[in-house]
Amino acid sequence: MTFDLAAPVEELALELINLESVSGDERAIADAVEVALRSAGHLEVIRDGDAVVARTDLGRGERVAIVGHLDTVPIRGNVPGRLEGGVLWGRGAVDMKAGVAVLLSLAAQLAEPSRDVTWIFYDHEEVDASLNGLGRLALHRPDLLAVDFAVLGEPTSAGIEGGCNGTLRVEARIPGVAAHSARAWKGTNAIHGAAPLLAALAAYRPKTVAVDGLAYREGMNAVRIAGGIANNMIPAECLVTVNYRYAPDKTRDAALAVVRKVLESAGVPGLEIAVTDHGEACRPGLDAPIARSFVEAVAATGAPAPKAKFGWTDVARFGSLGIPAVNYGPGDPELAHADDERVAVEQITMVREGLAAWLHG
Ligand SMILES: [Zn+2]
Repeated sequence: MTFDLAAPVEELALELINLESVSGDERAIADAVEVALRSAGHLEVIRDGDAVVARTDLGRGERVAIVGHLDTVPIRGNVPGRLEGGVLWGRGAVDMKAGVAVLLSLAAQLAEPSRDVTWIFYDHEEVDASLNGLGRLALHRPDLLAVDFAVLGEPTSAGIEGGCNGTLRVEARIPGVAAHSARAWKGTNAIHGAAPLLAALAAYRPKTVAVDGLAYREGMNAVRIAGGIANNMIPAECLVTVNYRYAPDKTRDAALAVVRKVLESAGVPGLEIAVTDHGEACRPGLDAPIARSFVEAVAATGAPAPKAKFGWTDVARFGSLGIPAVNYGPGDPELAHADDERVAVEQITMVREGLAAWLHG
């Protein structure tokens, strides 16, 4: 199996769909991608597990990473794919083999891009984060991720979605004193003790924060509550899990300080707060010159203005390295993982055009 990277991009995308690559089973597609990129001649190609990195080394003043994952969620009768009436159908049409086709096509064609490019194709995006191929690359070869700006080809309906909000999860522990509920006055009810804390959360007005020209809408919510061990006991402990989705103007510690301030304002005696999970935020970096030229090139394709990304994505792996990053790819994200995944060929060519104009200019 080899890919013809000079083929029309939608035909290349169909070939990619037809080579099944459900997470954990990316060996064949990674092999084919590696062979195709090696034959391009102008690229240094590096293989790490089932990730393939190809880069130019022209001594340009700037280096960008353009990134896509090779894996898909499981097949559901949607492989082989098909091209029909200007629409590409099949598993991965949206997430994200059309995007990968754009990247491969440009990697082969652009022998002398205006900025050095590190093309990254990786495995295990659709499964547990501990397996993620981009995370593994960051550990094995951090030098490969040292770039000035990164673009992930995830589906965004061919518009730019910049950066991503961070996500912080904390557990708030409200102590009480256990007692038989028949003699409740001997105890202190931890569930009741949570009431002021919940009131403080309910009253909190989340902010919308402008970062590098995009508006990030935040949220702070109790997402889980637990307390009580029997129907005739005054609970000695109540646990409230709080999730704070915070804008990329903040570090983890700054985000934690915001959560602490809100929870501690409730004045709950003996309150303990512990961080249980964290995913880094990522700045969009759209105010930097390198990104401005990208925004202009994409705007020229007729795409809508850049938007903030609210959900957490792999751009955060660049964010944690201090590298601004955006999502930009063909396909409606609402159709990702759907059995009837499909994308208009027009969107695939639009994204190819946007990236090509940026890398030429
Ligand atoms: Zn994806």
